[in-house]
Amino acid sequence: MYISKSFIPILKNNPSEAKIKSHQLMLRVGMIKQSSAGIYSWLPLGFKVMKKIEQIVREEQNKIGAQEILMPTIQPSDIWKESGRYDDYGDEMLRIKDRQGREMLYGPTNEELVTDIFRTSIKSYKSLPQLLYHIQWKFRDEVRPRFGIMRGREFYMKDAYSFDVNDEDAAFSYNKFFFSYLKTFKRLELSAIPMAADTGPIGGNLSHEFIILADTGESKIFTDKRVFDLDSEGSIMDRQSLEDLRKKYEQYYSVADEKFDKVEFEEKVSEENRLITKGIEVGHIFYFGDKYSKALNAAVDLPGGKKDFVKMGSYGIGVSRLVGAIIEAKYDEKNEIMKWPFSVAPYELAIIPMINKNDKSALDKATSLFKHFESNNIDTIIDDMDENLSSKIKKFNLIGVPYQIIIGKKSEGDLLEFKEIGKDPRNLTLDQITKILTELKEKN
Ligand code: ATP
Ligand code: MG
Repeated sequence: MYISKSFIPILKNNPSEAKIKSHQLMLRVGMIKQSSAGIYSWLPLGFKVMKKIEQIVREEQNKIGAQEILMPTIQPSDIWKESGRYDDYGDEMLRIKDRQGREMLYGPTNEELVTDIFRTSIKSYKSLPQLLYHIQWKFRDEVRPRFGIMRGREFYMKDAYSFDVNDEDAAFSYNKFFFSYLKTFKRLELSAIPMAADTGPIGGNLSHEFIILADTGESKIFTDKRVFDLDSEGSIMDRQSLEDLRKKYEQYYSVADEKFDKVEFEEKVSEENRLITKGIEVGHIFYFGDKYSKALNAAVDLPGGKKDFVKMGSYGIGVSRLVGAIIEAKYDEKNEIMKWPFSVAPYELAIIPMINKNDKSALDKATSLFKHFESNNIDTIIDDMDENLSSKIKKFNLIGVPYQIIIGKKSEGDLLEFKEIGKDPRNLTLDQITKILTELKEKN
C-alpha cells in the first residue's frame, strides 16, 4: 500500500472524547469511526487488524475440531420464547418487527438458534460430540456503551457451542475450549488469565472468564499472583492432560467480580501473593448442561434405546474488543509508541524513505524494496509522502507497524537501516531483513 493512496485519516491530536488509550489511538490513527452511540464503522487499518485477529481465533477453533458455520444476525422471537429468555433478556435485546408484524431481534448471542439447528438434524449419540462456532456481529443495547469498541452496542464475537451426550464428555469439550483459548490469546501476545466466573443470563454452573490485566478494565479481579507464571505449552488433546491443565490453573485462587469471597481469598492466598486489580474480559466460557436442550427439546438416542437431552456449553471471544484490548496492553501512551504483535499488525513492514524535492533516488529505492517485500508476501506499506522523516517515523510509531526500513542518511550501499519499534536500529542487508521477516511470518 502506498500511503498517498491509503485511507488512513490520522488526527494531529488525541480526540478529547476518548477516555482510554485504546479508544484514543483507534480514533487518532483512523481505525474506526463512530456511526452512532456504541456503533462503529471499521476503516481499513482497524478492519485489517480485526480480520487478522479473527483468523487466529478461527485457526485455533479449527484445531480443536470445531466446525465453522454462519448464523444470521436477525433471529425470530419464537425460539427465545421457547427458552424463556425473550422476557428475561430485557432491554439489552434490540427487538424489531418485520412488515408482517412478526417479532424479530438482533441476536445478542446464539444458544437458542444453534440448538434449533442442532435439534433438527442430530438424533443419535453417535454423532456426538458436535462443536459448532461462528464469527458474527452481535447487538446488545448496553446501558452505557463506552470506551469505543470495548463496550459497543454492535460488536463482533466468536461464539462456539458444544453438544455432548453426558457430563463427562461435556467437560472434555469444555476443556478443549479452555485450552484453545489459552493458545489463542498467547498467539495474540496477551496474557489472558482464566478466572472462575458467574454465569449471568447464560446460566449454568461451570464458567471461566479470560481476563487481561488493565487499569481501564471494567472487571474487578482477585487472584493469586502465581497464576501468571503458568503456561500451556504443547498440543495436548487427550482427556486427562486437558483436565490436568484446567486443574493446574484452578489450583490458584483467581476469580472475577461476583465470585469473590473475602474469607476464602484470605484463607487460600498468602498476603504476598494477593493481587486485587482490574482487567478486560476478552473471552468467556460456560457449561450449562441441559438448560437449553431441555427447554428446546434437543434430545438424542442413547446406546440402550433411551433418549436424553444433550449437554451443552458455550464459548465466546470478543473479537472486536480484542483490537482495543491489545492496544491497552501494548500502547506506550507517554511516548506515543504502539507496537502491534506481528501476527495481527495492520502492516508488518513500513518503508520510510527520506524524500527530497530534487532527489527522488530514495523513493525509487523504496519502491523497489516495496515490490520485493510484497512479492515475498510481507504486508508492506510505503510512505511516499513529501513530509520530513521525523514526522513520518512518528506517524508509523503511532500506527504501530512493528518493523521499519528507513531510507535516509543511514541506509548506505547494500546496508539498510532496519528498525523494530522500541529497539535500536540496525544496518542489515536486504537478504538479512527478508530472512527475519519471513521467519516471523512462518512462526505466526
Ligand atoms: P461483559 O461482562 O464485558 O459485559 P459479557 O459477560 O456480557 O461481557 P459474554 O456474553 O460473556 O459477555 O460475551 C463473550 C465476549 O464478548 C466477552 O468476553 C467480551 O469479550 C465480548 N463482549 C461482550 N459484550 C461486549 C460489548 N458490549 N462490546 C464488545 N465486546 C463485548
Ligand atoms: Mg461474560
